[in-house]
Amino acid sequence: MIVKCPQCKVSYYETTDKYDPDVSPNGSMLRLRDPWRSMGWATYGLDRGEGPGLLWSDLECTGCSAPLAPSGRLIMGPNPNEDDNAQSIPSKAQRIQGLLEEGSLTQVEIAKMVNTSPQYVSNIARKIKDASMESSLGM
Ligand SMILES: [Zn+2]
Repeated sequence: MIVKCPQCKVSYYETTDKYDPDVSPNGSMLRLRDPWRSMGWATYGLDRGEGPGLLWSDLECTGCSAPLAPSGRLIMGPNPNEDDNAQSIPSKAQRIQGLLEEGSLTQVEIAKMVNTSPQYVSNIARKIKDASMESSLGM
């Protein structure tokens, strides 16, 4: 099951097979989801560690440090197929960047293709341009 942070609402976590809804959660019951896991984020923030020794009161959101189980209960997040916020933002930007660099589509066409606004695409295009100008100035 997907678990979301009660404060920042990001679904950083999913339950492991240790999860038991009838007992208070501990550190072994959650793991980070991708892309954060593959980016090497610490499960419960930098110095918390992980595993069954962590009590529910030690479980802190890796993103905002809020308690994940404020009253001993985890907050179940959206279903995986409803969860289109946290995970799709970086990948959407990456996809747009790839299409822009390919150069075969206009910004409006790209916006339609990834289902976003042309402004969003043009923001990314501007960032790419700024970055390449900076690197050419540096040379
Ligand atoms: Zn949070």
